[in-house]
Order: sequence, then C-alpha cells, then structure tokens
Amino acid sequence: MTDLSAIVSEIAAEMAAAPDRGTPASYIPPLASVDPARFGIAVIEADGTAHVAGDGDMPFSIQSISKVFSLTLALGAVGDQLWTRVGREPSGSAFNSIVQLETEHGIPRNPFINAGAIVTSDILLGRNAPREAIGEMLRFVRALAGDEAIFIDETVARAEQDTGYRNMALANYMRAFGNLHHPAEHVLGVYFHHCALAMSCRQLALAGRYLMAGGINPETGRSIVSAQRARRINALMLTCGHYDGSGEFAFRVGLPGKSGVGGGILAVAPGIASIAVWSPGLNERGNSQLGTLALERLVARTGWSIFEPRG
Ligand code: GLN
Repeated sequence: MTDLSAIVSEIAAEMAAAPDRGTPASYIPPLASVDPARFGIAVIEADGTAHVAGDGDMPFSIQSISKVFSLTLALGAVGDQLWTRVGREPSGSAFNSIVQLETEHGIPRNPFINAGAIVTSDILLGRNAPREAIGEMLRFVRALAGDEAIFIDETVARAEQDTGYRNMALANYMRAFGNLHHPAEHVLGVYFHHCALAMSCRQLALAGRYLMAGGINPETGRSIVSAQRARRINALMLTCGHYDGSGEFAFRVGLPGKSGVGGGILAVAPGIASIAVWSPGLNERGNSQLGTLALERLVARTGWSIFEPRG
C-alpha cells in the first residue's frame, strides 16, 4: 500500500465517523432521501493510479459539477465568444440568486452559478433539439471517464422540472434581456438533465483528468481542450466553483474545485491528481460539509495546494 492509498483510506474512515455531517438538499425531493451517512472519495493520479475508498463507487447526482463539462462543451462550440454572454467574476451570491441579473443586464457573473450554466445550456442547444444536446453531454462525459455505464437519472431531472421555479425565473428573466436564444423550457430541459447526471467519485475523477493534465485525456492521449483553456477552466473553478463559499474553499483547500448540491466536489491538483469526494450533507452555502473537510485533510497531508511551493 502506497502512502497515498493509506491517506485516502484514513480520510474515508475519519469521515465515516464524523459527527457533524451537514444537511442534504431538500428542494429537489429525490436528493432529500439520500443517506447522509454516505461518504466516498476517489483520487486518480497523473500516471493513472486510482485510490478509491468508502462509497467511492456509488453513483450520486452530480448536479452543478456538470457545469464544468457543459462549459467545456459550450466553449468548444462557440469559443471565446461565450464570454460576451457570461462573465468571469465570482458572484458573492447564492448559486440560484437573481439579484445581480437586473443591474447587470441579464449577463450572469460566471458560468458556474445557475444563471451562467443556463446560458451555456442555451449555447449547447445551438441548432439541436434538446434531446440531441442532452445526448451530446452524456456522450462527452462517458468518453471523458471512459465509462459507458454513466447515466442520467430521469427521476431527478423530472423532479427539478416540477419544482425548479427559481431556475425558470432566471431563464425567463435572461430571455427578457435577450441573453437566452431558445425557449426557456427547452434550455431548462438541457440544464436539468445534465445536472441529473449520476456518477460515482471514481467516474467523476476519471472525467476530470483533462483538467489536471493540461487539457489532454491522459489515458487516450486525446486533446479535449487546449492547455490554455484547461488553465482557465481551473481558474474559474477556484474563483467561482463554490458560489459564495469560493473564497473559503480556496482558503481551506487551495485547489480548483466545483461543488454540487448532491454533495459532490470535483477538485483538481494540476499535474498531480484528479479528485472527487461525495457526502450528501451540505453546509450553509450549499457545499458538501464532509467533502470539503476531506479535501482539506487530503491537501494538508499531501501538500497538494496550488499555493504550496513545488519540489
Ligand atoms: N440543479 C441544481 C439547481 O439548479 C444545481 C444547483 C447546485 O448544484 N448548486 O438548483
């Protein structure tokens, strides 16, 4: 057993015993019934070595983590033009906030808050039907992870469709400003379905490898995005990946990371590892309570923070 395997198992054992686990999201009904005792972790090193512990092979709803993959695809479709419709600044507001949209003319602060990801979904629609755009996302994520078993949980997608009043408000509001080009229902169909992707920590960490490896999938050698684009996506994950908790996450963990209300976090140690953690209980900012703690401990024990001097 390498040191890293020992560290990963040790963290999984500590998290299994942690008393303060946060609260699972309840505004999407199927997420409320996920067992808060769950904790999973997967670390994929640059050479492909995988360390998986706890519930690291159990699929969960990746929710907003999907915004990293939809941004990657949308940039591939329209390039840097995307930035005329979405900003690149942290919002300092909740993930589903509408307040800045009024003064900022329907241009969301960044692609990782809901409003921003709704615009990237609009871009993914392009000239496609919603079903095709959803299929493209699913194929993309499966190819990144090298795993055809990844699926979209229709129950979760439907629950969001039935209860997503805020997202409908965001979409319609942006349409009023001309920053949504397709009907809100179509755009939200794409958005809710990619949020409903079900993946395990192992699958998620595999899918995130291109961000640790300068845009290249290290398994296939295929370029997914340019090195510059990978760097920029990582920068946005660091500054905006945890909504109004992004500063705190950078302070405690020091890695680019993207969270989702399903309790998952994808984190990237550039050149070193792609990491996914999952525990359904959230903190007051909607980010995984134990997922954050686990990453904080992993980084403390490995020295992987991007702010730590190298070699
Ligand atoms: N699908 C969720 C929503 O729109 C995503 C939010 C999240 O993961 N923070 O509310």
